[in-house]
Amino acid sequence: MALRPPFQRFVFDCDSTLSSVEGVEELATTDELRASIEALTCEAMTGKVPLDEIYGRRLELMAPRQRDVNRIGQRYIETAVPGAREVISALHALDKEVRIVSGGLRLPVVTFGLWLGIRNERIDAVQISFDKHGRYQDFDRQSPLARNGGKQELVAAMPPMRTVLIGDGITDAETREVVDGFVCFGGVIYRKEVAALADAVVDSADLRALLPATLSEDELAFLARHPKHSALLNQIPRS
Ligand SMILES: [Mg+2]
Repeated sequence: MALRPPFQRFVFDCDSTLSSVEGVEELATTDELRASIEALTCEAMTGKVPLDEIYGRRLELMAPRQRDVNRIGQRYIETAVPGAREVISALHALDKEVRIVSGGLRLPVVTFGLWLGIRNERIDAVQISFDKHGRYQDFDRQSPLARNGGKQELVAAMPPMRTVLIGDGITDAETREVVDGFVCFGGVIYRKEVAALADAVVDSADLRALLPATLSEDELAFLARHPKHSALLNQIPRS
């Protein structure tokens, strides 16, 4: 139950981990609808209800239009967790493979991921389709990311590499069997069910707090000497 850096691959969840919002909830047009969607998400992320039961239900309730879905990408950027972009840039400087594996909608997650500096082919999320008027039609029912255990399958199928996964939800915690470390990021929403399954818990609202837990002494020393990234280490919040 302790993290053992170094890791070669960092896999991030998106919603409530890299961004402080749940993208799908941003589609709700009324407070009432938003409350129902939030309740469904909460039940799925704490493991009370299987994700595939609520996945389609949330989208059907909101019937989003394509232009609204496109706007979530911008919302993700506006609500990026403090330090997210800097941390990812530092991980790239350390030659890490950085990925996003998200149960969110692919288009906005890619918009956000590219802004964070993550390559398109390293971003996995759920495709949805629209009719010719831009009205919601369906989601990719084959996607493992729309059901429980799906993140675990997807991560297990990646080429072997020492991997740490960082997330806030139960679908993130499910990967702990197939990764070398699972970090519960509680900086946006702290879920005790998820923290109980984690090798480490980061509950600062600033993602920079992730670095001391997931990097080796040598890697931290490398960043300390790096002209672009050394300042980052002084900005790490103390817990
Ligand atoms: Mg999440």
